[in-house]
Parts: sequence; C-alpha cells; structure tokens
Amino acid sequence: DTVVHTPAAEHVEIPAKEGYIPFFDSDTEESTLSIIVIGASGDLARKKIFPALFALFYEDRLPENFTIIGYARTIMTSEELRNIISTTLTCRIDKRENCDEKMDQFLKRCFYHSGQYSSEEHFFELDRKLKEKEAGRQSNRLFYLAIPPNMFVDVVRCARRRASSEDGWTRVIVEKPFGRDLESSRELTRELRQYLSEDQIFRIDHHLGEELVENLLVLRFSNLVFGPLWSRNYIRNVQFIFSEDSGTEGRGRYFDNYGIIRDIMQNHLLQILALFAMETPVSLDAEDIRNEKVKVLRSMKPVKLEDVVVGQYKGCCEGDTSYPGYTDDPSVSDDSLTPTFTAATLFVNNARWDGVPFLMIAGKALQSKRAEIRVQFKHVPGNLYNKKFGTDLGQATNELVIRVQPDEAIYLKINNKVPGLGMRLDRSDLNLLFKARYPRESPDAYERLVLDAIEGERRSFIRSDELDAAWEIFTPLLKEMEKKKIAPELYTYGSSGPVGVHYLAAKHNVRYE
Ligand code: NDP
Repeated sequence: DTVVHTPAAEHVEIPAKEGYIPFFDSDTEESTLSIIVIGASGDLARKKIFPALFALFYEDRLPENFTIIGYARTIMTSEELRNIISTTLTCRIDKRENCDEKMDQFLKRCFYHSGQYSSEEHFFELDRKLKEKEAGRQSNRLFYLAIPPNMFVDVVRCARRRASSEDGWTRVIVEKPFGRDLESSRELTRELRQYLSEDQIFRIDHHLGEELVENLLVLRFSNLVFGPLWSRNYIRNVQFIFSEDSGTEGRGRYFDNYGIIRDIMQNHLLQILALFAMETPVSLDAEDIRNEKVKVLRSMKPVKLEDVVVGQYKGCCEGDTSYPGYTDDPSVSDDSLTPTFTAATLFVNNARWDGVPFLMIAGKALQSKRAEIRVQFKHVPGNLYNKKFGTDLGQATNELVIRVQPDEAIYLKINNKVPGLGMRLDRSDLNLLFKARYPRESPDAYERLVLDAIEGERRSFIRSDELDAAWEIFTPLLKEMEKKKIAPELYTYGSSGPVGVHYLAAKHNVRYE
C-alpha cells in the first residue's frame, strides 16, 4: 500500500517545491498548456470555469501555446460547445474595444471531446487529440474535475493511465465535496493517491481565492498595528459569518445529502479561521503557510453538540412574495432534518487563543447575503470616559470587520468625539471601502485559483492533512446529530435565522447583530 495518511509522513514524501514550474518557465515556445475541463457540459464549467479561462486569456495570463478541451458524455461538436460557452463570456475587466475579437480568438482555442468518465479508451482518444494540438512540443496538462464526486476516481485513473503528460507536468483540480466525513474523505484521498502524488492534486475551495481572504495575510503580517492585538489578550471573540439570501433553489438534491455544515463550515469557514488564527509562517511559500494552518486545525477540539444551533428555513408569505420552505423542494423529503443554518462555537486550544470563542454562522434563505469576519475586542480597562461621565459613553468596544461580500471592505469601529462643544462620543468607522479606493473590479476567485494551478502555486489549495484535520473537527458532531436525529429549529425564509443563535452568542459573550 503506497498511500500514507499521516501528515508527518506526507511531508517527508513530498518536498515543498516538487513539481513547481513557474509560469515564465513553462511558457516557452517549446511548451504547451492543455486545460481539460471534465464535465464541460455542466453548470460550473459554463458559469465559472470557461469565463475564468477567458478572463485569463483576455488579461494575457495564459501562455502563448494553449488549448482548452471540454470533455463530457453529452454528444456535441466543438462548435456547439463554443456556442454554449460564448453566452457566458464577458469582458469583465474594462470594456476594451477588442473584446469581440478576443472572444473569437479564445473560442477558436476551445474544443470538445465526448467520452465516458470511466473509459480508458476514450481517454486514449483524448490523448491523441491533445497530442495533435500540442504538435510535438513539451506538454503540460491541467485537468479540471467539474463533475459529481463519485466520478473523480474513475477520471483520475483514466487520465493518469491514458492522457497524462509524458514530458511535462500533469495537475488535477478537484472540486468539493471532498467526502462526507473523515472516513469517506480519507478513502477519496487514498484512491486519488493511487494515481496522483499529493503535489498533483489541487483541491479547490473557491472562497480561498477571494480578494479579501487573500488580503487577510497582508493585513495581519504587513501592518504593525494588528500583530500585537491578535490574541486572547485583546480579542474577546471572532465571528465568521456566511449568509445567503436565497434557498437551495434547484440544488435541493445535492444539498440534502450534505447540509450547511459540510457545504460551508467544514471547508470554507474553517479554512478562513485557520488563516485568521495561524502563527506567522516561515515564508509565503505554500508549504509554510499550509503547515501553519494545519497546526491551528490540529489545535482545535471536535465541536460539541451543546455549542451548536441548527436551523432549517420554512416558507413564508403569501401571494406574489411567497417563498418556498426547504422541504417544499420536490427533491427533498418532507421529514428532512438537514440543517440549512448552523451556528457553532469553536475553540483553538493554544497559547494565543485559549478561551477565545470563534463563532461560525452559516445559513441559507436569510435576510441578507453577506460574508464577513468580525473581530470584537475587549473593553478598554479603566475607561476614563465611563468614569468621568458615569454613562456608557466610550463603553462600546472596538470591532474590526473584514467584509468579503457584498462591497468588499475593511473597517474598524472606534469611539470618536462628536465635533462641537461639550463631550459626546459617537461610534464611528475607519473605513476602507474597496470600490472607492480601488475602482478596478477584482478578478473572480476562479480566475485567481486556475491561474495559481497553472503556475503551480499551491498556497490557496487544501492539502490532504488539512482536510483530514478539518474533518476531525466536525465528523463527531455530524455523526451525533444523525444518530440522535437532532431536529433543526425552523426559521422563516428571509429572517435572521433561528432564535437559538442569540442564546449561543450570549453564552459566549458574543455581541451578535
Ligand atoms: P453538474 O450536475 O452540472 O454536472 C456536471 C456534468 O457532470 C454534467 O454536465 C454531466 O455531464 C455530468 N454528470 C452529472 N451527473 C452525473 C452522474 N450522475 N454521473 C455521471 N456524470 C454526471 O455539476 P456542476 O457543474 O454544478 O458541478 C460540478 C462539480 O463542482 C460538482 O462536484 C459540484 O459539487 C462542484 N461544485 C459546483 C458548484 C456550482 O456552482 N455549480 C460550486 C462548487 C462546487 P454529461 O452528462 O455530459 O457527462
């Protein structure tokens, strides 16, 4: 058995930079890049992957010699694929004159190959087609698995045996979900590792490609002011909030099998928590950052049921503004206990964070769509303004908010004197609103991450030991909830979620708005 799971062993096995070929090295006249989108007929490919590839082309970030091949079972021609994807391509960055021309050039580099996901013969045909396009140059191949997870291993087996590069690198981007629990995730990793080394696997979590998530490390490690405050000495609690204002519309079948904890918390929010809480890495190299993240995850105890509130949305309102409840979805059973909302308190048991509650909140069909980190600081000891005026002037604590969406921003809530005679304090913001400061639109997370995979930059992809540690935190809770058949608290579509979250927040002295 060649598969090793222990994080320590994986480090020995895979040197930090193995397989890393920087963009400028691989972009030579003698080399080619082939991007093979597996599941090209699907939703993700159409809405995110092809537009991201076009944006990279538009920005001249793809090498001179590149080819894109869509692969799926659906029978269609390359021209039909081009017609489908052309409807979702946009010249997003700025409206340049040559947009249509660029689109034509891009579409001419896109081809389609129909085949089964488990047929080595079909992948052999794909290989032949790729070789034709590569025309004898050194080939680098990137496979993007945009298919249901039960097909991952078949595709990787066929690609490895029949269509991997013979003289360059072969990398595979794998979309979530990476298993349903610790065991199934380990099984998936074990199976993938029969055909790929860890450094060929790029587990994508697109939220890690978002501008503000990338910026978290810059904020923390290149500004003197935050470092000293970043611990239990000054921080009272931290909230990670991910709320959506829509329900599962159309994705009920997928969602019912996973629920919000697996869909959002165990991956996105936990990854962001790890970036937030980690120690300073030795360098910005992917392995140094991922080493620090995994230490945070391994310092966390499994989440306890008593530290969790689960909810499920119910339909609301009559007439024109009626919204369906979760179980109104025909693909969801009427007695489904799947949570569409969860709030959970987690702790990082190390010297920096001992006793600080990290409150994660994720939910669907809530009143607003937002993703943010809120850092609540402690009270000012011996606050002069409270003493002098005997009121709660100046009582409000500082809060740092990193808002990923909507309207990316970083703001710090401070106490400030209201101008004028006398002394009145006001709670105000030091506000960095991105669209005001940086009018140019940020690239989509997929653009950044696909480019990273092309360049061999692994920093924003999840390593198998991180994944393992993340599942260890949530798997006992998921199993206990399933065993005890925990019924979610119902909340109304468009509301602020179950009432229970306020009690949970209060229990840990968190101000939750
Ligand atoms: P789709 O359901 O659209 O599936 C993609 C393609 O896979 C389909 O066009 C179909 O192609 C093939 N396929 C679908 N079902 C099966 C099946 N049962 N057996 C074999 N092949 C099948 O998925 P998405 O495009 O929405 O997502 C792809 C992957 O990305 C999934 O793993 C999903 O969890 C993940 N993901 C999706 C996101 C999204 O926004 N859509 C966001 C994050 C992750 P054909 O029949 O032509 O072979």
